[in-house]
Amino acid sequence: MTDQHFDYDLFVVGAGSGGVRAARIAAGHGARVAVAEEHKVGGTCVIRGCVPKKLLVYGAHFAEDLDDAAMFGWDIPERRFDWPTLRDNVLAEVSRLEGLYGETLANHKVTVFKTRAVLTGPNSLSLADGRTITAGKILLAPGARPALPDVPGIEHAITSNDVFHLERLPKRVVIAGGGYIANEFAGIFHQLGAHVTIVNRSDTILRGYDEQIVDRLVKISVAKGIDFRFNAGFEALEQQEDGSILCRMRGTQDIVADEVLFAIGRLPNTEELGLDRLGVKLTERGAIVVDKEYRSSVPSIFAVGDVTDRVQLTPVAIREGHAFADTQFGGHPCVVDYDNIPSSCFSHPPIGLVGLTESQAKNKLGVIRTYTSDFRPMKYVLAGRNERALYKLVVDEGSDRVVGVHLIGPDAPEILQGAAIAVKAGLTKADFDATVALHPTMAEELVLMR
Ligand code: NDP
Repeated sequence: MTDQHFDYDLFVVGAGSGGVRAARIAAGHGARVAVAEEHKVGGTCVIRGCVPKKLLVYGAHFAEDLDDAAMFGWDIPERRFDWPTLRDNVLAEVSRLEGLYGETLANHKVTVFKTRAVLTGPNSLSLADGRTITAGKILLAPGARPALPDVPGIEHAITSNDVFHLERLPKRVVIAGGGYIANEFAGIFHQLGAHVTIVNRSDTILRGYDEQIVDRLVKISVAKGIDFRFNAGFEALEQQEDGSILCRMRGTQDIVADEVLFAIGRLPNTEELGLDRLGVKLTERGAIVVDKEYRSSVPSIFAVGDVTDRVQLTPVAIREGHAFADTQFGGHPCVVDYDNIPSSCFSHPPIGLVGLTESQAKNKLGVIRTYTSDFRPMKYVLAGRNERALYKLVVDEGSDRVVGVHLIGPDAPEILQGAAIAVKAGLTKADFDATVALHPTMAEELVLMR
């Protein structure tokens, strides 16, 4: 496999989830591997995405937990939230993980170049210091970045990258977009005491999610005080003398905020990589077009993860990187199965889902059945919190297979992972019914819906 004509067998651009997994698995198969990373080892998920976001979600949730504690007998006379403490502890954890990712690469004898790499040929790259490196195969895993619209004053806005470094917690936050990031940060900022306004261009949020579940999130969010502006857009952002930002709006009233967060999707990082010169085919959105084996239109160049703009989820990028390395360096070709990928929005309350929504199932399968459980979690009853969870099963009438599970409520993502196994395994509603409930839990609702 080793071709001594080249400096390395594999050169990976980007040390995020997909790149690190591909590098270490290929190295484990005996390949000589190098990685270039211009920022931090770990990529979006570890450095400025899933991990620090989840820690902020945990931090923010204490606000409700402390409220609810009183009915459980806890007397907490004084509570004060200190943003720098949470922020700095989260950043310290990110640094620890960055170190572990670096160690993993070092332990697998992967060379890490802490610099930008640009492709100069089908088997060559140049590093920022002028060095040229050659490799038998090149894997592009540079990820994606937040999209920003062409709006006057957009330089006053922030993206999810910036939230983890805010000097102080804003009192008023406007969030553009109605997807994963918008709803997750809406929950975080709201719990931490800010007034949050979500602005979306359409009349819904979380497009592609089950409508009943989305409706429940909107209702709970509105009841909590989050403001929604639908069918609305931004004309301009103007910084005012007191430092606040005046959002000049289209389709709704103007809004004044301390921070304006744009979360309107993420664009593949394919610029200035030298791809145009090499004729690497891109989609209209700038994503690298790949085949089943992650090979681009140039046979020695491959791509995995967000840069291919298919399923922008960490576990998918990891599987793609692993499959690439096994196929190209391990001698056992494998492909990733993209069916029934579970996902979650870590909103307050969170959502977990796998499989088809009710309307997708109707379109695809024709006759279906749905089952719902609309309940108030036990701990909320005692706490006096008037917030209901909603669980929904979508079942194919012909086969009785459960083809979709949609949950909103406390710990929904934790509960969903187990249900995702059942959906992936093709289990039927009768299998769910035959499973004895685990009492008292919220998850037992999954096997009690009739
Ligand atoms: P999403 O794709 O989730 O949502 C984008 C939102 O922005 C939608 O509400 C969309 O509106 C709106 N939008 C899209 N384009 C424009 C535009 N040009 N102008 C105004 N509004 C626009 O994007 P996010 O940024 O929230 O997240 C990016 C990706 O990161 C996600 O797709 C997801 O794959 C991943 N992610 C996953 C997480 C998780 O698994 N928990 C957490 C965070 C991110 P509409 O739909 O109404 O057209």
